[in-house]
Amino acid sequence: MATVCSSVSSLSLTKLFPSRPSLLLKNSNQLANLFQTMNSISKPESRSSASATIQQVPGLDSDDMDRIADQAFQMYSSSSSRIGLGGGTAIVWFRNDLRVLDNEALYEAWVSSQMVLPVYCVDPRLFGTTYYFGFPKTGALRAQFLIECLADLKKNLIKRGLNLLVQHGKPEEILPSLAKAYGAHTVYAQKETCSEELNIERLVSKGLQRVMPEPSSESSNAHNPKLQLIWGTTMYHIDDLPYDAGSLPDVYTQFRKSVEAKCTIRGCIKTPASLGPPPSVSEWGYVPSIDQLGFQSQNVNRGMKFVGGESAALGRVNEYFWKKDLLKIYKETRNGMLGPDYSTKLSPWLASGSLSPRFIHAEVKRYEKERQANNSTYWVLFELIWRDYFRFLSVKYGNSLFHIGGPRKVERRWSQDKNLFESWRNGRTGYIVISTNVSVAILFYRYPLIDANMKELSTTGFMSNRGRQIVCSFLVRDMGIDWRMGAEWFETCLLDFDPCSNYGNWTYGAGVGNDPREDRYFSIPKQAQTYDPEGEYVAYWLPQLRSLPKEKRNFPGKSYNEQVVPLKFKGAGGKHHSQDTATAARRTNYGGMRPKGHVG
Ligand code: FAD
Repeated sequence: MATVCSSVSSLSLTKLFPSRPSLLLKNSNQLANLFQTMNSISKPESRSSASATIQQVPGLDSDDMDRIADQAFQMYSSSSSRIGLGGGTAIVWFRNDLRVLDNEALYEAWVSSQMVLPVYCVDPRLFGTTYYFGFPKTGALRAQFLIECLADLKKNLIKRGLNLLVQHGKPEEILPSLAKAYGAHTVYAQKETCSEELNIERLVSKGLQRVMPEPSSESSNAHNPKLQLIWGTTMYHIDDLPYDAGSLPDVYTQFRKSVEAKCTIRGCIKTPASLGPPPSVSEWGYVPSIDQLGFQSQNVNRGMKFVGGESAALGRVNEYFWKKDLLKIYKETRNGMLGPDYSTKLSPWLASGSLSPRFIHAEVKRYEKERQANNSTYWVLFELIWRDYFRFLSVKYGNSLFHIGGPRKVERRWSQDKNLFESWRNGRTGYIVISTNVSVAILFYRYPLIDANMKELSTTGFMSNRGRQIVCSFLVRDMGIDWRMGAEWFETCLLDFDPCSNYGNWTYGAGVGNDPREDRYFSIPKQAQTYDPEGEYVAYWLPQLRSLPKEKRNFPGKSYNEQVVPLKFKGAGGKHHSQDTATAARRTNYGGMRPKGHVG
């Protein structure tokens, strides 16, 4: 919030924002300039309030979403019946694959059984704290998104003759007891790759081993139930890579070229239109409300409001590709920052698994056939290959993705200055207090581009890719702050949080990633000039700036030269590639635990 406050003492402002040192003005010219600016900032925010509407993503009503989802289901359904296939009961343990369309674990469970029991465990650990710095592991906005995903999954399973059993507790306690109670022979689930999730897989597997087979069981299940993990997160299947994940190239372009040349993307699994009947369950449990998860509901009051769930995901694909016909210009618009349509906005659904990347691939191909194929249509797949790459890197590099030195074990001094970090996190990179006889105080943004992006993140749970690169570079390069603090704050806030993409991108941004050439510096003035030349974006999130001339919105006043931290490379180009030649440490610890305590 950039505010001009009159009759507020500097003391009270310092109390309000104790973390920021005040800057005192040294001469009357400076004072006069600031008052001038103050007057212009004080004007009513007529345009800003008009432009501060909330945009739902997708911009469809729920009937439209349901209709589009039904069409997609129809297109990707089969009419197979399970006669002659497996027997007994199989459990599907839904994790980050909260969808019906192209869900291989669900399909395998159906094929191998006569009855499928779909289960989601609301695991309390998901609502604990982040590993090093103790931020909430899941923020209120992502919790709300998850609730919507679960409600939609339940609805779509019911449409297919099943239901979703929602249980509150740890999967390693819930699943073995369900397997016992229902005589299930197998628990099917999507395979994960990072340590916390792998640890839970191990515990579930152990728990199932302890379930004694029921000799009297109707399922004639003479063995312990087993955990069957199925790959399902990426566009390219891990089994189709031309090498083991442990030998993944360390340069993205090499990876991309090799998979494009040597692999095919599998088609979507055609799930049967009818998956029932489910076993007889007396109480299916409830999808929790936000307060039952321990949150106060946080309404999005500005920017984009994403709707959780597979129906919304399929609706968004339809809206972006077909209805608005934006796929053909993606490459030109994707570096934008304002509004829903400069990029696909599919990441929150991809992260929760409400959307399959193979479905996106299939829809891109259909669009290319029915409308047009160009660089933009290809570029969405190019970006999805980045997503795959970070997932496979987590297999190759394991926990080093979360360590301060990253996969290459880079030794560098980082600060953990709380005040600097708070100013970044809260979108308040600077302010000025002027006290006069009449006690006037002025609050001022120093780096509007940083503050605007951080406000968007905390208000909506989303930030553009451009914004993420800029705020990451500012935190780690200009402020010199431990990159893990930024990564963990993203973990709290992002609707699309995914450990592989998040920590992968942060290690690249901090120059500790697996590829030494990915060492990124983003100059704020240059980025502002290129991507927000008229200050529309910053004025949207910091409405007081709207009354400034367009060219000043990103550079509001002389105080800009007295920043909270100086920029490392003033006026530098968009990217700075350092000559860091540290040798990359190669390690394949697929699934070790993250270490205890703080490093560095
Ligand atoms: P689009 O531009 O429409 O791209 C289409 C899809 O490609 C995205 O939905 C995403 O799945 C994938 N993609 C695009 N860029 C990247 C990338 N750099 N890395 C991986 N996948 C990509 N993305 C996440 O999904 N989860 C995260 O936790 C995450 N954290 C990030 C942290 C930092 C510091 C940075 C710089 C990037 C991060 N990204 C993350 C990547 C990227 O910013 C988002 O995927 C993208 O902004 C999502 O918007 P979109 O769906 O409109 O993307």
